[in-house]
Amino acid sequence: MDCAKLVELLTNLLGEDKVSAAHAVLEEHSIDKWLVGHPPDVVVFAESTADVVAVMKFASGNGVAVTTRGAGAGYVGGAVPVEGGIVISVARMGAIREINTADGVAVAEPGVITGDLQDAVRKLGWFYPPDPASLKECSLGGNVATNAGGPHCLKYGVTRHYILGLEVVLADGSVARLGGRCHKDKTGFDLIGMFVGSEGLLGIVTEITCRLIPHPPARAMASASFASFAEAAAAVQAILGAGFLPAALEISDKFTLGAARDHVGTELIPDGESHLLVEIDGQTESVNSEIRSVVSLLHELGCLSLETAEDEAGCEAIWEIRRAFSYSLRATGLTKLNEDIVVPRGKLVELVAFCERLQEECGMPIACFGHAGDGNIHVNIMVEGIDDPAVRARSDEALDALFKAVLALGGRVSGEHGIGIAKKRWFGEALDSGALDLHTRLKAALDPDGILNPGKFV
Ligand SMILES: Cc1cc2nc3c(=O)[nH]c(=O)nc-3n(C[C@H](O)[C@H](O)[C@H](O)COP(=O)(O)OP(=O)(O)OC[C@H]3O[C@@H](n4cnc5c(N)ncnc54)[C@H](O)[C@@H]3O)c2cc1C
Repeated sequence: MDCAKLVELLTNLLGEDKVSAAHAVLEEHSIDKWLVGHPPDVVVFAESTADVVAVMKFASGNGVAVTTRGAGAGYVGGAVPVEGGIVISVARMGAIREINTADGVAVAEPGVITGDLQDAVRKLGWFYPPDPASLKECSLGGNVATNAGGPHCLKYGVTRHYILGLEVVLADGSVARLGGRCHKDKTGFDLIGMFVGSEGLLGIVTEITCRLIPHPPARAMASASFASFAEAAAAVQAILGAGFLPAALEISDKFTLGAARDHVGTELIPDGESHLLVEIDGQTESVNSEIRSVVSLLHELGCLSLETAEDEAGCEAIWEIRRAFSYSLRATGLTKLNEDIVVPRGKLVELVAFCERLQEECGMPIACFGHAGDGNIHVNIMVEGIDDPAVRARSDEALDALFKAVLALGGRVSGEHGIGIAKKRWFGEALDSGALDLHTRLKAALDPDGILNPGKFV
């Protein structure tokens, strides 16, 4: 169908204010935070489940591609409409419909910004833990579609663990309401689990019921530096082995610390070639006692420097060090190819040793930091002159080598960002043939004409 006809029919269906083919709007909806974009033919701004249903009935009847967009803060090109067609934005579906602390649930539309939900429940003393670093800009629907995680997922789990109910519109426009507001539910298959992480390929999420837990009243932090990455990684194992389950355990390597020293100054970033951040939360007395024990353990393990914080302001100051890493790497002026690979925790040292060899071989610096407790490390290949095809080919080779090594270590190609188009090349290798086949059969069953988010990894 030609674009003009598509716009005309959708405008008749939904009204002018919900449909746009203006150049600036198409451009804005052609790309996320990854490198490559492609424009849609038209953007639809859904305001209700009924709008989504109408679009999907129209699209399936006419064989038009539909790509769902939350806030467009994805890192893998998931919301990029690679085959054009319709982008359906759920950004206007931004209402928090209910927060019910007696039931421990919040019901929200998919366009709600994750940080806004966290703030709203926190005001009532409650906690929605999934904390992607993008939480001030990404949407709850996008988090569901990518099964987003963050530093606090070590103790609290990822998005999947906080989704009790979903309303989903399928490719043919039918609506399924899954789960509900019960904290346990074994009534049929785990269909919620099937949609969480499905990256918009199986259906469009139009309502989310989240599990809330009480907010821990106290927290404390330790920030320790070590002479080597291996010593910091050994400290991660020792802390867990001693029976502590910190809210966060974040590690960083030599290149990352060097970039941070250049960007924010040496006085803020401790000496040493690796850094470990430990956060403990819970009731005040237990937090005070646990942090003391963790500090003694870190001293025993030979840390070079150690700082602690036992109040909100102090903890935030330590988190500032961690937050500085990403910005410091960007400030190097190099393009940061951020791969959110994950390995079994016992393989962290091998992974970082491999990255040190790889940077020598490919001639591009590699920075590693992230969620050590989960083995989910952000490996950043730092590229100069990414637009040069020869440089691009070299960085692609480095990525190939990285993913091959990760798989050989028993790891996975994505711990949190998803596959999208960025990791499509490695998806086939990353899964066993039975799992790949199951992906294909599920997609064919739910979206037989392949109109939902086409051109992606299935
Ligand atoms: C600075 C920065 C830091 C980040 N840190 C983290 C991090 O710590 N942890 C982490 O997990 N991720 C992180 N990310 C990646 C990203 O923020 C997450 O993947 C987030 O969940 C994307 O949400 P979004 O609303 O922006 O989704 P979008 O980019 O709009 O879409 C992402 C995918 O979800 C699909 N989708 C969106 N909404 C729906 C819906 N309602 N129904 C069905 N499918 C839908 C899209 O089709 C697409 O495939 C980071 C990104 C940035 C830019």
